[in-house]
Parts: sequence; structure tokens; C-alpha cells
Amino acid sequence: MKIDSRIFALFGNPVAQSLSPLMHKAAFREMHVDASYRALRVENPREIPERMEAMDIRGASITIPHKTGIMPYLDEISDSAARIGAVNTVTRADGRLRGDNTDGIGLVRALSEALEIKGKRFVVLGAGGAARAAVVSILNEGGVPVIVNRTAKRGGQVAKEFGCDFYPLDQIQGITGDCLINTTPVGMFPNTDASLVSPDTLKHFEWVMDTIYNPLETRLLKDAAKAGRRIISGVTMFVHQGAQQIRIWTGLQPPTDVMKRIVLERLKNETD
Ligand code: NAP
Repeated sequence: MKIDSRIFALFGNPVAQSLSPLMHKAAFREMHVDASYRALRVENPREIPERMEAMDIRGASITIPHKTGIMPYLDEISDSAARIGAVNTVTRADGRLRGDNTDGIGLVRALSEALEIKGKRFVVLGAGGAARAAVVSILNEGGVPVIVNRTAKRGGQVAKEFGCDFYPLDQIQGITGDCLINTTPVGMFPNTDASLVSPDTLKHFEWVMDTIYNPLETRLLKDAAKAGRRIISGVTMFVHQGAQQIRIWTGLQPPTDVMKRIVLERLKNETD
């Protein structure tokens, strides 16, 4: 199917390292959608609506550090994005801007490929935007999130808001659960040897997920695999959050297998 030429973009700062352009362009090509997708660095989220209007951009991915800052400039925000407190997807239609958050859906789809969420206990490391997306979406699916964070004040506030348990990071060795999810940037390129959790503590969990996807296998996931745990890579979440953006913008089914293959190829080349 051929549809009108459309312009999509990623807004953030920095954006040069992002794999979103590679992934979205591959998806549009495979779908025969006549669309472009470019990465645009913006200092201030206030610039995003202006740029979208001026360049006739139909849909945008929003990344660090503008996921919260963009919110006051939107006409409408989905219930889940409002609950998470962050927007990673903006759609422009009929002169109005709507904000969504697809990180939670991406995380749930990645988890669901590995385990049933309902009734399971998920220990979430971190209390920022990715952690909030994880907590909201796990609760929606009937799972039980527990927050563990370095800064007790922030972690305690998020736990109180969502009615879940909180533990400070220095108590992690005493915590058990079905699945551990790292939503902190610890272990991300270039600090690839860092991990917040000792191999011994990883034995308390059957599944270990990292939301980081560069490197593909973080130190946390390597340690977990060595300890005989089942691992879930952040790349699956990344692909599913991007696929959901395409569904929102076009109403069409994106080719998640092609998107995943192209991202994996790039990440594997970077490791070699
Ligand atoms: P954020 O809002 O800045 O939150 C970061 C969290 O990590 C905070 O709770 C912070 O703890 C904690 N943290 C940071 N450095 C730490 C350290 N050295 N030791 C212990 N805790 C530390 O960031 P975010 O938006 O949630 O994003 C976090 C990560 O999620 C990103 O780096 C990215 O890799 C991942 N992510 C992945 C996807 C995907 O599609 N796969 C999507 C979104 C995000 P304090 O509260 O103590 O500061």
C-alpha cells in the first residue's frame, strides 16, 4: 500500500547515537509507507511544537531529556502517559498535538514474550521515567512491582504514588522476586563493566531484564546468564516501543521482526 509522503522525527539532546532513525526507516520501507524519519537535536522542549508545525512533521519520538518537559506544550495527553508522567510519542493531527507513552507497552510486550506478568513480583531498579513506565504497565497487567532506588526520597515517593513497596538500593541483597528489571543507566555504553547487583543476589530472581540495549548484553545480563537466570534484553523493549509509535501514527501493523533484525545487526557490528 502506498500512502502520502509523511515526515516523522526524533527530538532529544543528544540524538546522534539513537537507533530510532535506522529502525523506523527500515519499518516504513518494509511497509511501503512513503515516509522520512530524521533525528533533530533541540535544546528546549518548547521548540518541538514549532519545529513540527514548520516542517509538517506528523509524528515524533521524544527522548532524553525532553520526555517530561514536552508535556506542557501538548493539547492532549493519554491517560497512561499522564500517569507515567512522561511522553515519548507526539502525534500532530488537525493542528493539535497529542502525547502518548509507548515505553510501558514496549516493556510489557518484551516481558510477555518470556513470562506471564499476572501475579508475579517484579523488582524495579530505579525510580525515573523508565521505572514509572514499568510500574504503571506491570500494575495494568496484574503484576506486583517493587521499587529499589539509590535515592530513598525519590524511590519512596514513587512507591507511595503507586501503592507499592520500596527498598533502598543498599538492601538489594535481601530482596527476592520473580523478575529483576534494571531501569537505571548503569551498565550502558561506555561504562559497560558496571552493574548494581552482585551475581549472588541475581540468584534470587528467575528472570533478569535490562532496559539498556547498548550494549546488547550488559554486565548485569552476562552475570545473570552465568548464574543460570533467564535473561530479557532491552532491545526487545526498544523495538516494541517503536512499533507502537508506528501503530499510533499510521494505524498500520509494523514489521517488528524486520525492525529487530536491523537493530540487532547494528548493535552486533558495534560490538565486533
Ligand atoms: P532517569 O529518569 O534519569 O532515571 C534514572 C534512574 O536511575 C534514577 O532512579 C536514578 O536514581 C538511577 N540511577 C542513575 N545513575 C545511578 C547510579 N550510578 N547508581 C544507582 N542508580 C542510578 O532515566 P530514565 O528516563 O528512567 O531512563 C533510564 C534508562 O532506561 C536509560 O538509560 C535507558 O537505557 C533505559 N530505557 C530504555 C528504553 C528501551 O526502549 N529499551 C526506553 C526508555 C528508557 P536516583 O533517583 O538515585 O538519581
